Amino acid sequence: MTDARLAIPVDDPAAAVTPHDLEVLAEQLGRPPRGVVGIAARCVCGRPLVVRTAPRLENGTPFPTTFYLTHPGAVAAASTLEANGVMKEMSDRLTEDDELAAAYRGAHEHYLGQREALGHVDEIDGISAGGMPTRVKCLHVLVGHALAAGPGVNPLGDEALLRVRDVWRPDRCTC
Ligand SMILES: [Zn+2]
Repeated sequence: MTDARLAIPVDDPAAAVTPHDLEVLAEQLGRPPRGVVGIAARCVCGRPLVVRTAPRLENGTPFPTTFYLTHPGAVAAASTLEANGVMKEMSDRLTEDDELAAAYRGAHEHYLGQREALGHVDEIDGISAGGMPTRVKCLHVLVGHALAAGPGVNPLGDEALLRVRDVWRPDRCTC
């Protein structure tokens, strides 16, 4: 399993959303998925891990979370980290570690660029997601971004994935 398999560019055929994907997404989320424009990362079995979502939903609502984590195992793993105070610890480190802060700002810029490629939405202009660029407010966002972008783009998303790899990892199917 290579990292390239996980991060799926928007024009890759693997990013195309099939009717089966929509069924799986509804099952994963417990509701119909909204604003899906592509599958940004898949499990090794092919089921979606992360959906690429339109920056404005069908009902007109601005939607900042371009990379939305859907896999229940990954969602649960991120929730466990959040419950264990990891977000505060990471936010604190961002104020002390210049190198980490710079890399995290880079992740923010990457996120905005990816979203802008799907269309410009004034209401969320310059606002990414998950607390970026200076805080950590949602690990689901960071993990979704790390899975979609591949390693080396979102340092704290990469770190969250490393921390949960004993319970959930993208190269081992637990669907
Ligand atoms: Zn799977």
